[in-house]
Amino acid sequence: MRPALQAHQILPVQVLPELPEVETTRRGIEPHVLGKPVKNVLVRQPSLRWPVSPELGQVLTGQSFSAIDRRAKYLLFSTSVGRMMVHLGMSGSLRITSMDQAIRKHDHIDVVFEDDTILRYHDPRRFGSVFWLPDQSSHELIDDLGPEPLSGDFSAEYLYELSRKRKVAVKLFIMNSKIVVGVGNIYANEALYSAGIRPDRLASRISLARYEKLVHEIKAVLERSIRSGGTTLRDFVREDGSPGYFKQKLNVYGRRDEPCRQCAKPLREIRQGNRSTVFCPVCQK
Ligand SMILES: [Zn+2]
Repeated sequence: MRPALQAHQILPVQVLPELPEVETTRRGIEPHVLGKPVKNVLVRQPSLRWPVSPELGQVLTGQSFSAIDRRAKYLLFSTSVGRMMVHLGMSGSLRITSMDQAIRKHDHIDVVFEDDTILRYHDPRRFGSVFWLPDQSSHELIDDLGPEPLSGDFSAEYLYELSRKRKVAVKLFIMNSKIVVGVGNIYANEALYSAGIRPDRLASRISLARYEKLVHEIKAVLERSIRSGGTTLRDFVREDGSPGYFKQKLNVYGRRDEPCRQCAKPLREIRQGNRSTVFCPVCQK
């Protein structure tokens, strides 16, 4: 586990890089790599969740990144000949480092630039992925995704319309990446609590007015997390390279049997889609 997680003790269990962490990674590394020609690429361990595209070194050498975009939890590094698509999986991180920094265990990939800046991919559990997408091609992993949660396309009307015929619990509905991307388990728990909606209520039974509240809370919890990540941007060039996992006061996630912060009754935990759901049976309806 990363030192940063143990340091502040706010998130009680292992936490995946979620949309805010990926967005902060994007903002953290972007100024250090844009426009710099790639000198070479070192792949020490190609066996990630899927094999690293074998042509990566050959195609990237001599190219430079013109933009780094994010789609859901994928980072897309654009060049004039195609894009490098990176997913951090369960434990991956990217950081900016240099030749004089020792290579640690699990430092699987280095993109080395002409000025000896290194973009280094680290991933102890190797559930991440690094793909090369030639030319303008897309990838099946990002083709069928729903809208970005912080975009205008993600609205109460959108959720309301899509949910009318769904026989699915609202929490699973908002965690479905074909409906909307980036609403991970922690954020779903927290947003439903703030909106006063029971996570096991059927999505089709929720009114437009309550979806207004839910959409507002989903955007708010993600924005708070990205903002708190903004204060840790320097971590991407720190020596130990620990990524910025965000300090955010959690109201329900990881607080089973603890008192609700609104009514003081104990919070309840259930399993939904094999993930932990914690909610207040009094405040959430
Ligand atoms: Zn309560």
